[in-house]
Amino acid sequence: MASPQRRIVHVDMDAFYASVEQRDDPELRGRPVVVGGRPDQRGVVAAASYEARAFGVRSAMPMANAVRRCPELVIVRPDFTKYQAVSRQVFALFRAVTPAVEPLSLDEAYLDVTENAWAEPLATTVAKRLKEQIREETGLTASAGVAPNKFLAKIASGWRKPDGLTVVAPERVEAFLQQLPVNALLGVGPVTARKLRAHGIVALVDVRRFDVERLTSIVGSRADWLLRLSHGIDDRPVQSTRRARSSSSERTYAEDLTDLEAIRKEIDGMARRTAAGLERRKMTARTVTIKVRYDDFTTITRSDTRRPPTADADEIARRAVALLERTDAGARPVRLLGAGVHNFTAAADGAPSSEPGAAAESARTPSATARAREPLGNPPGDAGEGGRADSAPDADSDSDSDADSDSGAGAGAGRV
Ligand SMILES: [Mg+2]
Repeated sequence: MASPQRRIVHVDMDAFYASVEQRDDPELRGRPVVVGGRPDQRGVVAAASYEARAFGVRSAMPMANAVRRCPELVIVRPDFTKYQAVSRQVFALFRAVTPAVEPLSLDEAYLDVTENAWAEPLATTVAKRLKEQIREETGLTASAGVAPNKFLAKIASGWRKPDGLTVVAPERVEAFLQQLPVNALLGVGPVTARKLRAHGIVALVDVRRFDVERLTSIVGSRADWLLRLSHGIDDRPVQSTRRARSSSSERTYAEDLTDLEAIRKEIDGMARRTAAGLERRKMTARTVTIKVRYDDFTTITRSDTRRPPTADADEIARRAVALLERTDAGARPVRLLGAGVHNFTAAADGAPSSEPGAAAESARTPSATARAREPLGNPPGDAGEGGRADSAPDADSDSDSDADSDSGAGAGAGRV
């Protein structure tokens, strides 16, 4: 339970594509500019300058609609090669601070700066310096949010834009949550927000008035996740891995499990599934981890690290089940179980599977150790290779939940 306070920064470039265009063409400065497709070809707005936003023009809006709102709108065709080049500059700055950088799009990322290359204890200072460096290097502004987790950091970065810096210190989390509307919850799009409002849930904290059962009847399997968020709890790690360095599965149960034998069976099955994933990727892992959430929402993880690394399903399952002895599972009802493996090694050559550029990503580096503390921090669902953890936790959630992004039409431009 007692994991150290994390320091997460979410950095988001301001009106990214539009700002790059305005930077490169002085004619465009001070004018309502959008980047996107042609209005007569059903184009949409990929990014809107702040001057255009003043007219109500927004990302993902049909271009014809945008032109109606702002007749003097200047439409610029997107140049993704250029945006990618700027993006590479920005991400190089991020990665010089910490290897724990999780890209969300070309212009947006989470950074875990709990440990950082500047040995800077204050995440606020890290964010401030990064903003300065981005401006010096690219001539562009970014907004940053600083918070103890990803959920809050992302809301914070959008709090004051452009060129904003919003800090949600741990002791201010509750006050911050109190100000938020229910649609600030990750995974709650307009459809779900309407449903929740119909039940009198208007503010984010109103969610707390509902027990899981009642909330489940409204939002399905996301109830647990939304309840946690409403308390400001989000233990998803910042996942810098382009190639996965961990893999896990977990499950929330409709009815709490109390039978230890049933719990063992569940853990055994999950461990075998993650072992199969290792096998497929020709990887081995040193660490086996389980996660248990009790009926009062307390969540614990237990892990077992050994050499040599293994992909053997029997061994991984045996070690995972044995870890249950270090929990109160069975004695206390269990609402969620998870099992996973991490600290990967390529099976073929025994070398660590670090991504290029992430120097010496062995378990001995501070950042890897930090991650190792919460290898199962993902929301329900497998945190497998290529899985994007920022979207809603479940497959059945709204797909319309991140409308406020510069990357609407840029989604096809690839991730950094
Ligand atoms: Mg942006």
